[in-house]
Amino acid sequence: MTQQISDLQADPALAPIVQIVGEKGVIVGDDQTPLLTEWRQRWHGSAVMIVAPQNRDELCAIVKHCAAKKIAITPQGGNTGLVGGQIPYGHEILISTKRMRTIESVSVIDNTMTVEAGVTLQEAQSAALEADRFFPLSIGSEGSCQIGGAISTNAGGVNVLRYGNMRDLVLGLEAVLPNGEIWNGLHSLRKNNTGYDLKHLFIGGEGTLGIVTRAVLKLFARPHQTETVFIGAASADAIIALLPRLQGGSGGLVSSFELIDEMCINLVLRHIPNTRLPLAQTYPFYGLIEFSAGHGTHLKPLVETLLAGAIDQGLTSDVAVASNETQRDDFWRLRHHVSQALNGEGVGARHDVSVPISAIPQFLQTAARAIQQVAPAARIAAFGHVGDGNIHYDIIPPEGASKTALDDQRPAIEAAVYDVIAQFGGSISAEHGIGTHKKEILAKHKDSVELAMMHAVKTAIDPHNIMNPGKMLVLPNQR
Ligand code: FAD
Repeated sequence: MTQQISDLQADPALAPIVQIVGEKGVIVGDDQTPLLTEWRQRWHGSAVMIVAPQNRDELCAIVKHCAAKKIAITPQGGNTGLVGGQIPYGHEILISTKRMRTIESVSVIDNTMTVEAGVTLQEAQSAALEADRFFPLSIGSEGSCQIGGAISTNAGGVNVLRYGNMRDLVLGLEAVLPNGEIWNGLHSLRKNNTGYDLKHLFIGGEGTLGIVTRAVLKLFARPHQTETVFIGAASADAIIALLPRLQGGSGGLVSSFELIDEMCINLVLRHIPNTRLPLAQTYPFYGLIEFSAGHGTHLKPLVETLLAGAIDQGLTSDVAVASNETQRDDFWRLRHHVSQALNGEGVGARHDVSVPISAIPQFLQTAARAIQQVAPAARIAAFGHVGDGNIHYDIIPPEGASKTALDDQRPAIEAAVYDVIAQFGGSISAEHGIGTHKKEILAKHKDSVELAMMHAVKTAIDPHNIMNPGKMLVLPNQR
């Protein structure tokens, strides 16, 4: 039976929460379904109650009540997370920040923006542009994901190479702690050496230490021109060798540097309508590279000179430069639709991993040999933000096999890939985080001292394990 407001009002533990937010702030009936389901249908949850407070004070009062009654909480933003952290198991109250959507201020002099947690990434980007400023975080889910969620997952995306990930873009934040206290770290200071920088516990904290309610974000000069380039190359080494040359030669104007292998491109061309390869022939690897600059730079001739040099050095022989916005969109369409194209084949195992940039070619070779051992017929599709050392390394069923053909081999495939990652000193999660999906993998691969420090932080801030229990960390005596 679907939950109704009267059910909640009849429950002495939950009725006070209905009073705090009013009926408008309680989500019941069929409206609950989208918040309890991960968009790819990978995780389905349930919750004792779903609430959407309209401001920090309501949220704070709910958390205080939950702390007093020892009711667990799952925070949720735009529900676009890819590791299940935002989906409750059933014994939690789900607190959605979707009604906390105020852009409080944009300061051109401080180069900052202060926003509530529920503002979407796209709304924040647009507000910056309106003030002729630039907020550079850009990810495929930007229309739906929220600033609080992007902070809590330390989101990355296509501009990390130039501007950093969310950790580099937050100057200050405010959070409601598991006991209901408000921590006001909402500074806009660029220099503040006064001990531990506690905001970093919440950035990438996946809602396990508190709920982010507001943030001060860094803004940048708006890039007025971009040059977008699509290249073909014989090897991953050639693509990676281009990065320092283009960065050095342009004085750091490369803002995106993506690698896409032949398998990914072929499947995009097969599954995604209105796509075409912008080069005359196919290559084992492709690079999608974007340069951006302000008005004062002669970007186009600079990029053309750099590309001519790359051709002379034998790093690429085939280059397409987007001549207008439509062509630029066409190039990015190839990159942004890789995941969807792979879904069309059935994905056996997905890995969002990172290694030092210089190790990417060797990682690709070593991982391919490891996959050959455990799933010889499987196909490998590799793509990602390699300018940040980030590879999405996906293993898909053999051509013509069923979409679920690799399901039984998934644990062996994942173990093989994560072992190779460990050999290269890499990370088992470059962008998407840990959530429900990778908590056991984290427990296996994280250094034991580091893991003990993480447990100590969690226990110190959330001694009753109220905030997003069962996510990220496997705690002793976990509920
Ligand atoms: P949710 O999914 O709602 O939550 C994510 C986690 O944060 C959960 O653990 C939740 O409990 C916690 N949380 C949410 N809000 C708060 C809050 N206010 N306080 C405390 N905890 C909170 N990620 C990248 O890094 N790079 C990419 O390029 C990228 N591309 C993507 C493309 C697509 C199509 C999709 C669907 C996702 C992509 N992601 C990418 C994943 C990315 O992590 C999420 O899109 C986003 O950062 C999460 O924001 P959200 O508001 O949807 O959070």
